[in-house]
Amino acid sequence: MSDAPPRVGFVSLGCPKNLVDSERILTQLRAEGYDLVARYEEADLVVVNTCGFIDAAVEESLEAIGEAIDANGRVIVTGCLGSREDEIRAAHPQVLAVTGAHAYEAVMEAVHAHLPPSSDPHRDLLPAQGIRLTPPHYAYLKISEGCNHRCSFCIIPSLRGDLHSRPLGEVLGEAERLVESGVRELLVVSQDTSAYGLDLKYRTDIVGGRPLETRLEVLARELGRLPAWTRLHYVYPYPSVDRLIPLMAEGLILPYLDVPLQHASESVLRRMKRPAASEKMLQRIRRWREICPGITLRSTFIVGFPGETEDDFDQLLDFIQEARLDRVGCFAYSPVEGAAANALPDPVPESLKQDRLARFMEIQAEISRDRLAGQVGREMTVLIDAVEPQRLLARGPGDAPEVDGQVIIDGAWEEVGPGDFVQVRVTGYDEHDLFAEPV
Ligand code: SF4
Repeated sequence: MSDAPPRVGFVSLGCPKNLVDSERILTQLRAEGYDLVARYEEADLVVVNTCGFIDAAVEESLEAIGEAIDANGRVIVTGCLGSREDEIRAAHPQVLAVTGAHAYEAVMEAVHAHLPPSSDPHRDLLPAQGIRLTPPHYAYLKISEGCNHRCSFCIIPSLRGDLHSRPLGEVLGEAERLVESGVRELLVVSQDTSAYGLDLKYRTDIVGGRPLETRLEVLARELGRLPAWTRLHYVYPYPSVDRLIPLMAEGLILPYLDVPLQHASESVLRRMKRPAASEKMLQRIRRWREICPGITLRSTFIVGFPGETEDDFDQLLDFIQEARLDRVGCFAYSPVEGAAANALPDPVPESLKQDRLARFMEIQAEISRDRLAGQVGREMTVLIDAVEPQRLLARGPGDAPEVDGQVIIDGAWEEVGPGDFVQVRVTGYDEHDLFAEPV
């Protein structure tokens, strides 16, 4: 028998939350002595971590499975689409095994069954921070799984189950290891970040000899003590979110809040099964800006939800003009198989959805540009992402990786590299990015 370690290929699809699952599976594989290889042909087996959030993602996942089967032949499927085993097997009867979202043990069992680990795992080769798929200077920190809400357009709860928070000590321990390994920005993710600890009844744990409650505010404060940026994503607009803003004003966590609002019309929000009080939301936004004037607000919206009238849509436009959010994503509603919203009457015709999307984006683009223009002349600390021959690509407190803009600093720099913090002054802007010079 050969002594060569068994080799696994890995494909990771979908959102940052799925990426964290991939990192966890890869870390476990590596800990057990599997070699991770980048080419299908070199692998003894391929694991595909799928996404099933929208129909386009399902198609992409099925295609990725097909590609791995064609190139390698031995494929294990895991992730969100794993909850639709029949569909996967109908398209690809050859798959070796199918497991669901965040089912680490089941994936590992399937791997063991089809490719036993080598008898001599090189555990000492595993970095303490585990295996990560992001650049070395930032990392996603997943604090919980699942969601207790039942937004009618979303199937996440049926794919990932109810809220399940990770213990505070475990999350903080992981954050510390990441920062020790060189991470300079922690991106807190989950399906519903503001609900952190609710399922554990906000229990008090002893962490580092101190009693700490399992809740977002406490977690944010503790993360704020680490020498790295902390950025909060997917913060459902519970009233408790208001208590995070002073932490931003104090500089403990980044003044950045990603709050998916989805709509502003009460009747649409009710049908979406989301909290419906946009007037209060505007008041809260005003208050957040009073407490923390530099705060960057990001949100996402859906237009063309079933039953959305011209009046509903106008209310949404009024809201975004009033709220003047910095970063906004907007999607035309598209039905997701298995979502409750599919049973709602009065679907909006596709052409009208696209027309509303275009009108929304036109107004928001101007607002975003105005918000960026307001940054000119400001001094800020930025985190370097990449060094190019004649310029640096960086991000400021208002720019999350992948989704927001960049800060571009012209000139040749020798002494700085990715993961360094640099002080700059903003000199210009375009639709998404800022331009800056060193201070
Ligand atoms: S809060 Fe987010 S994850 Fe939870 S049901 Fe609503 S859209 Fe889905």
